[in-house]
Amino acid sequence: MASSSEDARFRYCECGAAAIVSTAWTEENAGRRFFGCPNFWNGHPCNYFEWVDGPFSLRGRQVILEERKIIRCLHNVLEQRMREILQQEKTISQLDDELEWWRKQGKRTRFITLATVLVVGCLGSWGQTHRHM
Ligand SMILES: [Zn+2]
Repeated sequence: MASSSEDARFRYCECGAAAIVSTAWTEENAGRRFFGCPNFWNGHPCNYFEWVDGPFSLRGRQVILEERKIIRCLHNVLEQRMREILQQEKTISQLDDELEWWRKQGKRTRFITLATVLVVGCLGSWGQTHRHM
């Protein structure tokens, strides 16, 4: 029976594959690591199992489960914030596009205004020139 973390590196399961270390999250064994077959979830018949850690105290298990609950809660808050940030980035990108459109409109308007002023100015001076003749 392995009992220290040093032993966690070298174990082979019954099918010859290098065993992987996982962590149990049941009430009874919260946070306790164990060796298992890497092919277990692929429907492999090998049922190799061995604890890495010895059993934890009741208080140890309670603390691990409480801390895990807090971490999950913080994780959810973080995910919510990430979704909000992504939404805000989308909004910023849309506003950037809108701003670009208005800039182009502004340039076009200034060009039309300038052209109108020039044409009216030219017509005005042409009219004055021809009236005096
Ligand atoms: Zn195996």
